[in-house]
Amino acid sequence: MEKRSSLKDGPLRIAMLSAHSCPVGKLGTKDTGGMSVYVLELARELGKCGHLVDIYTRVHDPKDKLIYELGHNARLIHLKAGEDGEIHKLAVYPHLPDFARQLENFRKRNHLQYDLVYSHYWLSAWVGKHLQVWWDVPHMVMFHTLGAVKNAIGVGEEEPELRLKTEECLVKNCHRIIAATEKEKEDLIRYYGALPETVSVVPCGVNLELFQPLDREAAKQQLGLDGGKNILFVGRIEPLKGIDKLLMAMTYLKSKQKPRLLVVGGDENSRHEMEKLQRLSQEFQIQDQVTFLGVIRQGELPRFYSAADVCVIPSYYESFGLVALESLACGTPVVATRVGGATSIIRQGETGYVVKDNAPQRLAEKITLLLSQPNNSAESVNLLRASVTGFSWSVIAKAMVKECQTLLAK
Ligand code: UDP
Repeated sequence: MEKRSSLKDGPLRIAMLSAHSCPVGKLGTKDTGGMSVYVLELARELGKCGHLVDIYTRVHDPKDKLIYELGHNARLIHLKAGEDGEIHKLAVYPHLPDFARQLENFRKRNHLQYDLVYSHYWLSAWVGKHLQVWWDVPHMVMFHTLGAVKNAIGVGEEEPELRLKTEECLVKNCHRIIAATEKEKEDLIRYYGALPETVSVVPCGVNLELFQPLDREAAKQQLGLDGGKNILFVGRIEPLKGIDKLLMAMTYLKSKQKPRLLVVGGDENSRHEMEKLQRLSQEFQIQDQVTFLGVIRQGELPRFYSAADVCVIPSYYESFGLVALESLACGTPVVATRVGGATSIIRQGETGYVVKDNAPQRLAEKITLLLSQPNNSAESVNLLRASVTGFSWSVIAKAMVKECQTLLAK
């Protein structure tokens, strides 16, 4: 492939890989969440700045068009690899060689050249590892979650040896790793022996145009909620999210009025986990206080964040945790376990609380505290929103451009 002529400051041509998960897929379903948001938002922002970004993913639906224009200079390209349609992410692995070949054919047919590959998740990074050799370009990887950390936590499905071995090999072979938090960097060093100088920490961002505060009382009314207090959970429904701990925390809440818990996320593929949680709410006799809403379109979420008095992230593990940023951008405080970006996002006692772990009593204590405080004033809403404006996608995209330029200059 022809090499870049003017590396410094010129537009970058980036091939982003998101093989197993479609960036325009339905958020809140089993395998589609923060990573898809990251890929889509970053690509759009880089495109706006004049860089050229092509995201490659599998055909997830036979109706998928080959190319989607995502915005200025940003495209999503669907490649056939394995059967069309949703398959378990591990079932994508045997189709990765085919995916890589299809990608290379598409690139050749369309006379495309890229300056670097930016892979997301270990499956895509496997493909990126081949492209880096074929194209002789740098390969940057963001793992989003790490199999070894998931297994060390021991909640939910065990990650296979194949993932652990592949991640270990990729950590040693790629040119740069982007970690969303210092903790993720530590984990990469601890579990996979990453060299500290190969890992950069660049946080994730939030779409501040979409996530805006709405009047809390009006939002409650529009959602058909009564005058009581509302606690919100938003995310994929899976054991690592610790929703069971939040349900138990509900039983410890010290509040005259019984607050309501709204659980956003989950579709047919999360049915098993959802039923488990519904049974738990019955066991704890809080079924009348808990509503499982299923997946809500992201465009509708500002109303939910705004209607809530507190948003809770009771996770055992997060790579970053976009929900915390989204809630604060809408002016709603957050209680989160000390996972992902929580400590860098939440200002203790000012915009919410970070708790040591998801022990129900610990969560309940902080939720009770926030529910007892007035939270409707424009001043408090503005303070919460202002605390996350430094995480706008334009700020994050600038940091990523710097990373790319440094890598290309080497
Ligand atoms: N989300 C959504 N609808 C839902 C549930 C979640 O749009 O029903 C979005 C949410 O706005 C957030 C993302 O999914 O942007 C979840 O990202 P997060 O980083 O919190 O969790 P992850 O999926 O990475 O575990």
